[in-house]
Amino acid sequence: MTAYDKNNVFAKILRGEIPTNKIYDDDFAIAFPDLHPKAPVHVLVIPKGEYVNFTDFQTRASDAEITGFFKAVRAVAEQLGVTEDGYRLVVNVGKNGGQEVPHLHVHILAGKKLPV
Ligand code: AMP
Repeated sequence: MTAYDKNNVFAKILRGEIPTNKIYDDDFAIAFPDLHPKAPVHVLVIPKGEYVNFTDFQTRASDAEITGFFKAVRAVAEQLGVTEDGYRLVVNVGKNGGQEVPHLHVHILAGKKLPV
């Protein structure tokens, strides 16, 4: 597993060094709009802890962090008002998964019927 890069863009957002329009913030996660939306609704949810990707998170995070993070994902979906019509969760992991930013993030995509 590659070591966590404290200079990745989401680490900078968490430290407030890069501005974002934060739409959610709790003990475990924050959420903000994706810079390059691929659907009418495209929001990223990231854990507050330093985890490179899903594998790293599931390996090292506490049960409280894991539960708290996925509860936050659900809460953000509720807040966005997309639970009734549905949404897609995407987690890209590593090189072959197409992960660009090495801090775990869940994409919430919604707002239209998404192509398969
Ligand atoms: P991934 O390919 O899963 O690593 O997705 C990274 C996502 O982060 C892409 O959809 C980018 O558009 C998005 N992104 C990169 N920089 C920012 C930023 N400063 N604010 C919001 N989203 C960003």
